[in-house]
Amino acid sequence: MYPRAFHYHRAGSMKEAVTMLTQLGDDAKLLAGGQSLIPLMKLRFASPRHLVDLNFISGTSYVKEENNELRFGALTRHAEIEASPTATKIPILHDCAAGIADVQVRNRGTIGGSLAEADPSGDWATVLMTLSTEVCCLGTKGSRTVPLRDFIKDAYTTALTHDELVSEVVVKNPPQGSGGAYLAFKRSAPVYPTASAAVQLTLEGDVCQDAAIALGCVGLTAIKAKEAEAALGGQRINEKTMAATIEAARAAADPQSDMRGSADYKRALVGALVKRAIEVAVRRARGERVEVSHIYA
Ligand SMILES: Cc1cc2nc3c(=O)[nH]c(=O)nc-3n(C[C@H](O)[C@H](O)[C@H](O)COP(=O)(O)OP(=O)(O)OC[C@H]3O[C@@H](n4cnc5c(N)ncnc54)[C@H](O)[C@@H]3O)c2cc1C
Repeated sequence: MYPRAFHYHRAGSMKEAVTMLTQLGDDAKLLAGGQSLIPLMKLRFASPRHLVDLNFISGTSYVKEENNELRFGALTRHAEIEASPTATKIPILHDCAAGIADVQVRNRGTIGGSLAEADPSGDWATVLMTLSTEVCCLGTKGSRTVPLRDFIKDAYTTALTHDELVSEVVVKNPPQGSGGAYLAFKRSAPVYPTASAAVQLTLEGDVCQDAAIALGCVGLTAIKAKEAEAALGGQRINEKTMAATIEAARAAADPQSDMRGSADYKRALVGALVKRAIEVAVRRARGERVEVSHIYA
């Protein structure tokens, strides 16, 4: 189906895009990679009268390291992050970027668009929740920085006001001795995962000093599995702590039965994915180079 007719506006700067949003009102939408918005428009679930295109603004696509932080321009494509040696310094970021859909989607879709969309099945929010992540928002009143945990409010709902956009995503480098992994179970590459798990932990010897665990596609937003984190944090990693962590992660999941699988099936997947992600995260924290890819049905 074709989308309803709309007016196309090309912004020359992020500031100009904000001005356009303010002037055009509620019927205006930003266009980044178009990988969520265009399908919604074609299905006529979204029919904005005005599209403000961000794609021709220079300097909005980058991955750089400054002051012990990685900074991603809002228009940075998943594929650029996948290929970036700087982003790969935090291996869980590479796991995420490389596993999103297929190469066509990764070449167009952006990290800013993905967070702004706040799709419950989107990979970036799940992964970035295990790291110290801030979202820089630009609006008519200037810039503000929102921690990711406060940015995602609900399914498809963020802290952005209508005249605000995401300008940058900032991730703190994890401390020495850290490792992470992101694993998803998918029916095929160009679909969202059935369930996913992100684990980022810091080791001192055999003891897990700190653990962050987030679950994707099993709730209305990515879920921070706090009880599971508590079961692993401060503990020696052995069969007993692994079992307690996995059980707590399964309990934290809040899946719906749908075409991707029953709620029970997704909960079982969560247990298996968290276990595998912890195993890879531990090996990476010990300095091993470990390649992972998502698991396909
Ligand atoms: C076939 C297919 C499979 C996919 N599979 C996956 C998957 O497995 N995992 C996954 O994570 N994603 C998946 N996606 C989605 C993809 O990752 C998109 O890149 C992402 O959801 C949206 O990014 P975008 O840049 O395309 O945003 P757009 O579609 O351009 O915009 C999405 C929304 O965000 C708003 N927006 C865009 N940029 C900004 C900004 N800078 N500031 C404020 N608002 C903004 C837009 O107005 C719109 O409302 C898939 C998409 C397709 C088509």
